[in-house]
Order: sequence, then C-alpha cells, then structure tokens
Amino acid sequence: MQYRFSNSFKYGIYAQNIPHTFAVNIYFRDSTCIYTIYVLGLFKHTNTTEVVDIKSAAVIGFGCAGFSAARALRQAEPERVIDIYSDTAEAPYNPMLTTYYVSGKIDESTMFPLGDLETIKKELRVNILCGTPVKRLRARERVLELDGGRGRQYDDIIIATGAGAVIPPIKNLPERGIYTMRTASDARRLERALNGVKSAVVVGAQMVGIKVVELLVKRGIRTVLCDMERQMFPASAYERTAAVIAGRLERAGVELRLGAAITGVSDSGKVLSASFSDGSETSADLIVFCSGIRPNIAFVDREEIDVGVGIKTDLHMRASVPHIYAAGDCCETYSPLTGKNAYIGLWANSAMQGRVAGNTIAGVQDEYHGNLIHNITHYMDTDFISVGDVRSEGERVFWQGHGWQLEATVSDGKIAALNILDNAGVSGPVKNALLHRAAHPEQPMSVHARLLLSSAGVPDAIIKKLGGEGA
Ligand SMILES: Cc1cc2nc3c(=O)[nH]c(=O)nc-3n(C[C@H](O)[C@H](O)[C@H](O)COP(=O)(O)OP(=O)(O)OC[C@H]3O[C@@H](n4cnc5c(N)ncnc54)[C@H](O)[C@@H]3O)c2cc1C
Repeated sequence: MQYRFSNSFKYGIYAQNIPHTFAVNIYFRDSTCIYTIYVLGLFKHTNTTEVVDIKSAAVIGFGCAGFSAARALRQAEPERVIDIYSDTAEAPYNPMLTTYYVSGKIDESTMFPLGDLETIKKELRVNILCGTPVKRLRARERVLELDGGRGRQYDDIIIATGAGAVIPPIKNLPERGIYTMRTASDARRLERALNGVKSAVVVGAQMVGIKVVELLVKRGIRTVLCDMERQMFPASAYERTAAVIAGRLERAGVELRLGAAITGVSDSGKVLSASFSDGSETSADLIVFCSGIRPNIAFVDREEIDVGVGIKTDLHMRASVPHIYAAGDCCETYSPLTGKNAYIGLWANSAMQGRVAGNTIAGVQDEYHGNLIHNITHYMDTDFISVGDVRSEGERVFWQGHGWQLEATVSDGKIAALNILDNAGVSGPVKNALLHRAAHPEQPMSVHARLLLSSAGVPDAIIKKLGGEGA
C-alpha cells in the first residue's frame, strides 16, 4: 500500500524479508530522496500478522531500454515504487537521431521521441533521479551505491545503462577538437563546432562514421575517413560490396585511409595533425571518433555478475544474480534465432529487452525472441543493408539487378547472411523473411511474403534460398 500527499511526495510502509526478524521500513519520499526509518524486532513467526508489502525497483540508465522496462513494469504493477537513475538531466534520447540533428535534418526536440521528463514522470508515475549516476552495484545485496557511497536497497534492479563511444588509447590526445557521436550532448557539441570548419578526420568506417562523413561532406568540409581495417564496413560488408562502396565515396571526394589506424594527434593551437599506422599524416580542424562502443558497466562487479561483451542474461533478461536484470546495449543475450549469444546494439532490440525485463519482474510471462544482427543505412544516395553475420561459412552468391545488387552467403541451400546495395524497398521483406525462417524453420514462407519479395525485384532463385520453397 502506498499513501500519497502529492505526486512528488509519498510515504509508505513495507516489510523486509529477514529470517526470524520483523523489519518494517517506514519511508518518506520526494522526487529526489527516500527517507527511511527502520523498525526492527525479533519475533517468532506466526501467520496472524498481515504484512503490507510495497515492492520497489530501480532502473539504472534512462534510454530506450530503461524507458521500456519502467513502462512495462508500471503497466503490470500500478503500485510498485520505481526509481530511475540517470547520469544526465535529459529525457531519453534516440542516439540514432544524433547525426540527423547535427546535419540539420531534424530539430533538437526530435532527438527525444519518448517525451519530456515531466510528462514521462507523470504518465509512468516514476521517480527520475537526474544527474545521479550509479557508482557501484552490490548485486547480491541488491544495493546501489551513489556518489559519496550512499547505498539504497531495492527488491529488483534493472541495468539499462547502454553503451558509450570509445576513443582508442592515443598518448597525449589534445582536449581541443576531439569529438564522439553517441549522446544528445555529443550531437550539440559537434553541431556548435562545425561553423567555419574546413577539414575533418572521421575515425571508424562503420555505420556511425559514415553518417558523420555524410554530414561533413554536405557542408563542403574536406573529409578523411580512416579505419584500421582494410575495407569499408569491416564488420558487416563483403569485400566486393565494400569495394563498390569505397569507390563511390572516393568519387564523392572523401579521402579514404583504410588499413590505417590513427596512432597520434598533435595540436598546433590552430590545427590538429593526425598520424596513421601506414606512416601517413593529415591536418584537420577536428577529429570525430566513431571507433566503436563499449557497454557502460564499469560499476558492475564482474566477480559477482557474469559479463561477456555485456552483462550476460537469459531470455527473461535475468542476469546471473537473482533480482538483477539487464536490457539494451549494456547486455548480451542468447538468441534462439541464431543459437548463439549475441551483443546486438539496436534500438528495437533495446525496447524489446526492456519490456521483457519489466514484465518478468512483475511476473508477466514474456520472453526475448532473439534477433539477427542487421543494419540498414542510407547515406549519400546509397542504401546499404546488411543482415546476419557476413563471416558465416558457406558458398558466396552475387546477383546484380536493375540498379541494385545482392551478395549473400548460402549455407545448406539457405541464405545465412547478405548485403544489399541500392534497394531500400527490399530490406524490410528480406529481413523479415530471414527472421521468419530462423524463428520457424519448419514453416514455408507465406504467399504474401513471396509476393512482397518478388514485387521488390528479388529474383526467384534468391527467394527460394530465403525460404520461399515454392518460388
Ligand atoms: C549514430 C548512431 C546511429 C545509430 N543507428 C541505429 C540504427 O539505424 N538502428 C538501430 O536500431 N540502432 C541504431 N543505433 C543504436 C541505438 O541507438 C541503440 O542500440 C539504443 O539507443 C540503445 O538503447 P539503450 O537504452 O540500451 O542505451 P542508451 O541509449 O545508451 O541509454 C543508456 C542511458 O544510461 C545512462 N547511463 C550510463 N551509465 C549510467 C550510470 N552508471 N548511472 C545512470 N545512468 C547511466 C547513459 O548516459 C544513457 O543515457 C545507433 C546509434 C548511434 C549512436
């Protein structure tokens, strides 16, 4: 039971489960603090006492996963105390919209698709503790530690801290002129810096890097794109497709340094100078590091919780310690679709995992169905789509249609991974066909799906390999 004086100040009473001990916590809370009075007594357990039980949950991190977890939990449990810890003072933003904001395609508010903080607070009836990063998690005790070592205990804890941009270790990296692209504040910082910029280096030839290259080129900025790997999109493109992409970028004026890791940066005070592992150098007004992400889980004790790339969870988003859950870009999960553990940093994946975590805590049956790694990116008049793991073993097939091309790995007569260039219309039906086949290998593709693929221009032979037996 929970008593409320106003939306932002509440008091309540709940019992703690300590054997042979009766502990009642009377608490008062406002939007920032919980004041708790413990009344402790030893007693012999009888069944005559009715205990009023208000459960509490903490959500650490307020992005897509944290929001989805809090929303699912609130929908299932109207009375649960839900505290959300966020290291920023912002509403949840969508990191994939950051480059659109910098390029001027959207305004600032569009980066926040889930609403403003006040509306979310009111609708979900949650406490949002802004600017309150969690510094340490004592998982077995279910205690969060905040700045200054203050600890708070919860019945359940969801870790939804996402991932942060990684800058490779470079000695004496200057403070001036260095940028990353992940958060809303990264986006504002870069947007403010671009006035008057004539040259830039982008580090990382992956999905984020290419979007930054696009917005720089559009502004007429001389752009060098470098990557330690020897091809474009090294994690998601076949060599042949990558070569086509590289050729187009060069024709559009992008200077490519592939197979060239950035090894040093110096600052003359007016201009930066970057040096690369192939011995080359270039000068630039600014450098944007899009060189990868790392789960934000430094506050987790790896002796307590199993961690691979991210926090390991089961299909209900449970971590290895009871009552601790994880969702989104901070975790990795077994995918029934691929039969492997996978770290999949995608918005829809974070939403699904957050929902499953919130529902599981509330006892609502829900399960993560897994996902395929996929990227669909549009930049500089190119659509590049990659589905599955392009390093999969199998026969390589290549097909070129009218104005678009497809390259795929075929294993056991079926497509295991593919790249598509220049056919955005085909990406949805192809991705859905692969997802469907992975989830229901025994079911043939529906007539509707076959027609969709066919009308998008996919040849019959390829439709067959996607699972359309009758094509
Ligand atoms: C440029 C770019 C393009 C992208 N393009 C796509 C795309 O096309 N399609 C797609 O599906 N996905 C894309 N993504 C990825 C997608 O945005 C993420 O997968 C998704 O937003 C992850 O959500 P999340 O809630 O797990 O993490 P986040 O959005 O990172 O949220 C986590 C929050 O937790 C906070 N936090 C961290 N540590 C703490 C702490 N100790 N205490 C309290 N709070 C903490 C963080 O500051 C952050 O606000 C893109 C990402 C970027 C950057």
